[in-house]
Amino acid sequence: MEKIKRLANSLKYLPSIGEKTAERLAFEILKMPSSKALEIAEAIKIVKNEIKQCPICGLYTENSICEICSDAKRDKTIILVISRAKDFYIFENNKKLNYNGTYHVLNGFINDKTSVSELNIETLLKRIEKFNIKEIILAINPTIGGELTIQYIANKILKNKKITITRLAYGLPAGGDIEFADNFTILEAVNGRKKIKCS
Ligand SMILES: [Zn+2]
Repeated sequence: MEKIKRLANSLKYLPSIGEKTAERLAFEILKMPSSKALEIAEAIKIVKNEIKQCPICGLYTENSICEICSDAKRDKTIILVISRAKDFYIFENNKKLNYNGTYHVLNGFINDKTSVSELNIETLLKRIEKFNIKEIILAINPTIGGELTIQYIANKILKNKKITITRLAYGLPAGGDIEFADNFTILEAVNGRKKIKCS
């Protein structure tokens, strides 16, 4: 069973896959028709060989530069900073938001396991140096590590440049009741409050 064990051990590299789940998945793969199992293997091979991170912003792309950075219609003076590449879809697919700026993927945030040098921060600072950036939106989750990262980046940028840096106002969920919101949510909701205009 050495070969099955090897497959299970490889599956454990994935997040939230423990010993038991990895074994179960390994046996599921064994049970599958060969064509299906090889389809998974082939799809993994293709994404790993053909998809890379954009050298400018870190978004995934099949081309040398991603579709956002190479789009002349996008506003290159605004950068929305995200910690994970997949967060791109949250903003890009939000039709009401209609975001037309660019992105920057940090590949994580500062925590016990990740140091500043492992994050895509230097490239962000270089972009700011090189281009006429007007606003940086830090769309990073307000966790302890997220807060550290937000402050670190803001300090780094503001030391040299006068750029507007904003962060998301973590308000209450639509339809939510403030009674059930934690202190942090309330604090952020109040601090991030916006003026109501006459309608
Ligand atoms: Zn890009």
